[in-house]
Amino acid sequence: MSSRKSELETLRADLKVRLSRYEAHQHREDGALEKDFEEQAAQTQNDEVVDSLETETRAELAQIEHALERIESGVGDDCESCGEAIDPRRLQVLPYTTLCINCADE
Ligand SMILES: [Zn+2]
Repeated sequence: MSSRKSELETLRADLKVRLSRYEAHQHREDGALEKDFEEQAAQTQNDEVVDSLETETRAELAQIEHALERIESGVGDDCESCGEAIDPRRLQVLPYTTLCINCADE
């Protein structure tokens, strides 16, 4: 299952790039004083969107790291909850999953 691993590594690299973009956005210098109220409101809204995207991306990244750790210890294809093999078709669609379809549904 080395293809799943390299897929996850690619995904992880992508997410890290995305995350650094969000961070750059959040930590930029903002000239809030020069902006009128409407612009500030739009920016605040934008910041909130980026903020939730950042949280989402972090969670996704953590899940990928977790799946990679399991692959590296040789249990990446087994369900983390019941220990049964995860359907390879499921792994193809969701390479970062660590649960079989039955356990994920619960
Ligand atoms: Zn299971």
